[in-house]
Amino acid sequence: MNYTQDNDKLYRYLFQNRAVRGEWVRLNQTFTDTLNTHHYPKAVQNLLGEMMVATNLLTATLKFNGNITVQIQGDGPLKLALVNGNDQQQIRALARVQGDIQDGMSLHDMIGKGVLVITIAPTEGERYQGVIGLDKPTITECLEDYFVRSEQLQTQLIIRTGEYEGKPVSAGMLLQIMPDGQGTPEDFEHLTTLAATVKDEELFGLPAEELLYRLYHEEVVEVFEPQAVSFFCGCSPERSGAALLLIPEAEIDEILEEHKGSIDMQCECCGTHYFFNKEAIDKLKQAQ
Ligand SMILES: [Zn+2]
Repeated sequence: MNYTQDNDKLYRYLFQNRAVRGEWVRLNQTFTDTLNTHHYPKAVQNLLGEMMVATNLLTATLKFNGNITVQIQGDGPLKLALVNGNDQQQIRALARVQGDIQDGMSLHDMIGKGVLVITIAPTEGERYQGVIGLDKPTITECLEDYFVRSEQLQTQLIIRTGEYEGKPVSAGMLLQIMPDGQGTPEDFEHLTTLAATVKDEELFGLPAEELLYRLYHEEVVEVFEPQAVSFFCGCSPERSGAALLLIPEAEIDEILEEHKGSIDMQCECCGTHYFFNKEAIDKLKQAQ
């Protein structure tokens, strides 16, 4: 059995006879790549893993092309945690930490007073933004609430982060009643009760179909072709240059002076350095 066959994959499935749909995702290399250039405290790492899986599951429910940003802002030691993912399941994440964050610190102690903001940006059409109070102990519970309120559909989210075979892993499942109104609360409860029995090592180690069989061997589950999930930053010299031009000219000159004629614009997500000297900056300005 090849246990790694479903690493960095997202599956959608449907419970025939129940009018309930499901999703399953596991982030292995994607998670490692995201953490790669950073030294986040463990608790922040776990939170980002949870937010990444949530973003994958959320984007997979979209009926159009676009991207979703899940963002937490607060006044605690964790100032910002941000995850962005698109319908191609390309995902990136970053966090800003100021101060001490101990292992196992609660969401509320990390964030202080804060909010969860979800921005849905379709490739065509208007963006939608929802602001959610962080009034539950975990992001997963806050998001479950969001689904019920925004889509009026009963939704269950299970998200776990940790380590598997010495490597960071984050995985999760979503169950949602179909919008056609044919799924009964009893059907939903039956399936969610079974989902809640899933163990970490099953989520982290099993191929999707075997996991589904273990949980639901009495159900008829239609499993669709999986989608690959990957880390993708999307930064470029052009974007970095555009951000640089937002800095007032006098300040740019000052930085150039201080740093021997070259400004280092480092991408917060992936750590790539983009260097600009006076000549390059003048070119950028002319191209504006
Ligand atoms: Zn980048």
